[in-house]
Amino acid sequence: MVAVVVVSHSAPVSDAVAELARAIAGPDAVLEAVGAAGGGLGTDVAAVRAAIERAVTRGGAVVLADIGSAVAAAREACGLLPAGVAARVRLSPGPLVEGAVAAAVAAAAGATLDAVAAEADGALGAKAADGAPPTPQPEPTGGGDWLDCRILVTSPVGLHARPAARLVQTTLAWDAEVVVLNATTGAGPASARSLTAIQTLGAMQGHELAVRARGPQGAMALEALQALAARGFDEVTGPPPSMRFVPAGPVDGRGLIRGVPGAPGVAVGEARRLRRTVVRDGGGSGDSAVERSRLDRAFAAAREELRVARDAVAAQAGEEHAAIMDAQLLLLEDEAIVGPARDAVAAGADAGGAIRGAVEGAAARLGSVEDGYLRARAEDIRQLARLLIAHLAGVAGPPRIRGRGILIAADLSPAETAALDLSMVEGIVVAGGGPMSHTAIIARGLGVPAVVGAGDMALTIVEETMLLVDGDVGTVTLDPSDRAVAEATARAARTPDALAGAAAATRDGTAVTVSANVAGVGEARDAVAHGADGVGLFRTEFLLMNRAAPPDEDEQEGAYRAAAEELGGRRLVLRTFDAGDDKPLPFLDAIPRARGIRLALAHPELLRAQLRAILRVAADHPVAVMFPMVGDAADLTAAIAELDRAGSELDAAGVRRGAPEVGTMIEVPSAAIHAAELAPRVAFFSIGTNDLTRYTLAADREAAAPGAVGGLHPAVAHLVGIVCRAAREAGVRVAVCGEAAADPRAIPGLLALGVRELSVAGPAVGATKGAVRDVLLPGPA
Ligand code: PEP
Ligand code: MG
Repeated sequence: MVAVVVVSHSAPVSDAVAELARAIAGPDAVLEAVGAAGGGLGTDVAAVRAAIERAVTRGGAVVLADIGSAVAAAREACGLLPAGVAARVRLSPGPLVEGAVAAAVAAAAGATLDAVAAEADGALGAKAADGAPPTPQPEPTGGGDWLDCRILVTSPVGLHARPAARLVQTTLAWDAEVVVLNATTGAGPASARSLTAIQTLGAMQGHELAVRARGPQGAMALEALQALAARGFDEVTGPPPSMRFVPAGPVDGRGLIRGVPGAPGVAVGEARRLRRTVVRDGGGSGDSAVERSRLDRAFAAAREELRVARDAVAAQAGEEHAAIMDAQLLLLEDEAIVGPARDAVAAGADAGGAIRGAVEGAAARLGSVEDGYLRARAEDIRQLARLLIAHLAGVAGPPRIRGRGILIAADLSPAETAALDLSMVEGIVVAGGGPMSHTAIIARGLGVPAVVGAGDMALTIVEETMLLVDGDVGTVTLDPSDRAVAEATARAARTPDALAGAAAATRDGTAVTVSANVAGVGEARDAVAHGADGVGLFRTEFLLMNRAAPPDEDEQEGAYRAAAEELGGRRLVLRTFDAGDDKPLPFLDAIPRARGIRLALAHPELLRAQLRAILRVAADHPVAVMFPMVGDAADLTAAIAELDRAGSELDAAGVRRGAPEVGTMIEVPSAAIHAAELAPRVAFFSIGTNDLTRYTLAADREAAAPGAVGGLHPAVAHLVGIVCRAAREAGVRVAVCGEAAADPRAIPGLLALGVRELSVAGPAVGATKGAVRDVLLPGPA
């Protein structure tokens, strides 16, 4: 991504401009602020050069400077750059504030270096045109038929920086040429791909915009823009945006830190730093037999602690969340860790050294793998070392905080999250991780508001600082005003839990099913209590975890039937086992990198037993079956052939069975791209945005999706658009069952694209229905 370097005579000015640009362009924008050192005035060529060099490593840099010597210093710094670096730098003559904002918006949306520079350069034109008589711009020519629609500017501040930025970001998600004319004043047309151009329209509240689009995704771009306008350009009611932004970072004890929504809800409380007992194992006894027994006792005690934490999570948040910790328990039994530790003790090492050596060896092996998911597991292993050493020293215990409040931590292991004393923890702020990290998933299960990916800035928060944690939008406000607290809590209180059980529809009356993701019978029961319309995803692979052999057909039939009975006539979507790759099973032969339906197809007996169990339950209950990790039509055809075979086997044996609806997950990019080929074979698609994001962006599932806009990365939104169009043409229903289904920022866009079912964690059903009820879908253009 192109970075923007802001050079000013004054450090507070460059910091504030960079922060304003980041606030408007979103947290992904990369900005470097340079001002005079030591709080005075002036510019330092070396500092400017260093900032440019840092920025260039991100993919190019656009440099803006304020006046006189700052411009000269920026020019001189550029002149000192090696030729290879200088080629990736553009020094813009644009105005500092407007240029930085326009460039940051374009950069955050993935524009090229030249396009970002053009935005910075043109920013003065936009300002000059604001309120001035309209300047006609040339009508674009060529490129197919235009589609038209009209949208109304409802934002109280008109189409100023932030709403205009949302319009541009929304447009950039689509492969379409979009131009906008201010139909009220006649200004324009202006390209909707350029913030500065859009601002020349001078669109005020009540103005009508004529939007024209063409190109491969012109229709979808129009739909998305209409949805954006219907949402009031994502402006929240309250004072104008400029008044809502406060300088980021705990500069003077006040500030706003932007992270990523981890778990929904709002919490207010004092900052509490996580306290871990710092332990030293105190060296060894020098006797191998004694060290061996210390080692074994430490492993046994650590296993016991994890088991207790696991059961606590299972009771409070459900089996699905507890299963995350099963993986850690398995590590404590892993021969690749236990074996080398014992060998080291036998060779004369003390127990502590043996643990560190064995754990580090295993972690290093995983850490060297390219796959981000596996690298994150290396961190899990290192966290285990902490636990084992604590038990060795006899000072283990759950992490503590000093009094009730908001827990701040650099990281938090699943076991630590699970072991938190919930009567003390009002909210969680974690510097690392993303919305799909285990910490976020467990926090959601426990119902604790959390912001993750808050960055190192969060670690500078002083203990006892009053904090407002907004897990819905991913922000942490330091020393919040009474008004900010009142606004956030009022919004959180609007979550219509009272309406959770009622059917959800958008403001224009479009019905949307909100169902639950479950991993067992208990969660199916909870789903009904949470008001779910059914179960949109039963992750059946959780039935396989921690087992030496797979459950047989009868046992599975019992589990599925029990879940269906809990649902009392509501629909149950059973996904066949999604195992393999990073969800290994001890009793399956490893097929390198195979996961989901491909692994299942390599074990047809296991798959058919599951399908027979599902078919038997379908005789009595509204059950659907869907397949995970389908990559193309061949995978799907083979899976459906197994379903047919399972049906024939039951018929031949005279066993009663039903004919469940058949669907497929869309979570592999190739499946999304070829959705039109899959559609004729199924009744519904269920989009798994977790894996779809991971595989589309080559991103770590545990971390924040880079460049996500409005909850979904534009590339993933693009794929969702392809899937929805294929589904519309084939008359296939579309559900989303990844974490994005519960993200209030993603929901309006998903519904505008045609998604009509959202399947979310049980505790999120009420809030998701509330978000659906806020959406106004655009009528026909
Ligand atoms: C997904 O990938 O979005 C999904 C729902 O599947 P899982 O999270 O079970 O991999
Ligand atoms: Mg998945």
